[in-house]
Amino acid sequence: MHGFIPPKRYFPYLTWTEIQAMSDKENTVIIQPIGAIEQHGPHLPIAVDAAIGVGVLGKALSQLEETVPTYALPPLYYGKSNEHWHFPGTITLSAQTLLTTIKEVAQSIYRSGFRKFVLMNSHGGQPQIMEIAARDLHQESGDFLVFPFFIGRVPNIANELLSQKELEMGIHAGDAETSIMLALLPEQVKMERAVCEYPPELPPESLLSVEGQLPFAWTTKDLSRSGVIGDATTATREKGDRLLASLAEGLVRVIRDVYQFKMPELK
Ligand SMILES: [Zn+2]
Repeated sequence: MHGFIPPKRYFPYLTWTEIQAMSDKENTVIIQPIGAIEQHGPHLPIAVDAAIGVGVLGKALSQLEETVPTYALPPLYYGKSNEHWHFPGTITLSAQTLLTTIKEVAQSIYRSGFRKFVLMNSHGGQPQIMEIAARDLHQESGDFLVFPFFIGRVPNIANELLSQKELEMGIHAGDAETSIMLALLPEQVKMERAVCEYPPELPPESLLSVEGQLPFAWTTKDLSRSGVIGDATTATREKGDRLLASLAEGLVRVIRDVYQFKMPELK
């Protein structure tokens, strides 16, 4: 059941008596991986976001020192993927359902005595939900420290490995995701079907953009015929191995920080 997660870090393998007897529950880090099951172009499986999230987390947990108590919950495979609605295979929860699910899981973890909860999200369409959940949970219980993380913001070396255009526009099923999948689950990648498709450009004087400071709402079919937004053809396993290693290393540092974290005191 544990998949990429090292068995000794997999929360569901514990017994209730072990959980009850745990020392330092206040600082023990409980991580909820949250992915998505959604189209990723003609060359990648719909599991990509869930696979990358759990893959990076598993690698990080296998490197993390034993002295940092940390457990992964079972991955939440489904996310809010309605931007990919028009492509078959995409499964989506509503924002409300995802928010409620995350909050009810978090409240159960709080009730078990834990006070540090990480939302480890790996789908670019839902960081907002994580942020709302985290704020609400901390407002409801002031001693509950909740961390709404998105995998793309964990320190990594993507800017050394990807082209400038890909860093800006390669937001879905492009070089980065395809390379990481070649490293994680190579037999599930159909490179012969990989394409390059960037969204149509806006007039150069426009202040608006697909993402960034002044975005417009879109669904994937507004931007892409293939479902790819980026260049999947330049992906390599070597790049994927390096990206994965740097993300795992970055995540280890982040987990250590969460373990050490105290809410800053007012002067
Ligand atoms: Zn993705």
